Amino acid sequence: MTVTRVMTVTPLATWRRMAGKAEKEGLRAYRLNGDPRFWAVSSATNPGVAYEVTVLDGELLCSCRASEFLPYCKHRALVLDALGALDPVEAPLAA
Ligand SMILES: [Zn+2]
Repeated sequence: MTVTRVMTVTPLATWRRMAGKAEKEGLRAYRLNGDPRFWAVSSATNPGVAYEVTVLDGELLCSCRASEFLPYCKHRALVLDALGALDPVEAPLAA
């Protein structure tokens, strides 16, 4: 199965910025059991720790502390990137 759409209130530019930061810090996203809904993302600050990122009903959840306060985080950004959701898309209507 594939994940084609994730609902988010966060602008794409913010996700891209976060994903870039995550990559720079050497974070890695691991798909669990080949299922695009379940991921583990390594922690930048705490080696040996990984956060769970879950795509559930088009929503993106993360187990990190920042996620308690913010609708986005580096871990989710990295997963979106891995899913190809941050790729540039054509303008839907160039009127
Ligand atoms: Zn997170």
